[in-house]
Amino acid sequence: MITVKGVSKSFGKHTVLSDIDLEVPESQTYALIGPSGAGKSTLIRTLNALEGIDDGEITVDGVPVHGKRTDLNDLRSRIGFVFQSFNLYPHLTARQNVSLAPRKVRGRSRAEADERSAELLSSLGLGDKLDAYPGQLSGGQQQRVAIARSLAMDPTVMLFDEPTSALDPEMIKEVLDAIRRLADTGMTMVIVTHEMGFAREVCDAVVFMADGRIVEVAPPDQFFTAPGSDRARDFLGKVL
Ligand code: ADP
Ligand code: MG
Repeated sequence: MITVKGVSKSFGKHTVLSDIDLEVPESQTYALIGPSGAGKSTLIRTLNALEGIDDGEITVDGVPVHGKRTDLNDLRSRIGFVFQSFNLYPHLTARQNVSLAPRKVRGRSRAEADERSAELLSSLGLGDKLDAYPGQLSGGQQQRVAIARSLAMDPTVMLFDEPTSALDPEMIKEVLDAIRRLADTGMTMVIVTHEMGFAREVCDAVVFMADGRIVEVAPPDQFFTAPGSDRARDFLGKVL
């Protein structure tokens, strides 16, 4: 579903991604982990062309992401992206935040978009918060609204860049549980995370990055019990 071949990227003289190869099969959830500055955010942002690339090729669901003729708006509407900060519209209710893009971009009627919005929010445990404004919601609730907003566009792929890093500890679980249920539905996902327990229990593979390179890709049980590189052993020694 996601194919990255020979991708490199520099900011000025600083090489941030170095000859990256990666394949994420359909319906799989991959965790992208590694030390700060490894290039995780840059890599995940190249997958929907929020960052350009200098070399190589990326396709998502058959679409060449960085192709000259690729319609980026169309592409991005089919790739959900959830960030650390939720960036909801503060003047819109939860339901309106979720139904906005389907109405504006997909041309859905208000009734249709609102109904689907309510369904999605309910499935994420927010059925009683449809008419709440972001300011009335906790961080964990806001992040679940942000996930619903992405899902409302019927994405084929979901990308998450540290979705729980801005949350208080007691709210992390509710967001990870929502992502876990999404994994169970067969969504194809890439998640940058520092939640090692989540990576181990939910993800199909761990992609370990350091210094702009993919150091190893391994099934979680193997990665966490017998990492194949000194770099990964060193990293796990610090975070576990
Ligand atoms: P990670 O998400 O793994 O912490 P990033 O992808 O954010 O790493 O950053 C990788 C490297 O690229 C870092 O050294 C960072 O300073 C650098 N970097 C990221 N974005 C930019 C930018 N827009 N301009 C210059 N350097 C950047
Ligand atoms: Mg990052």
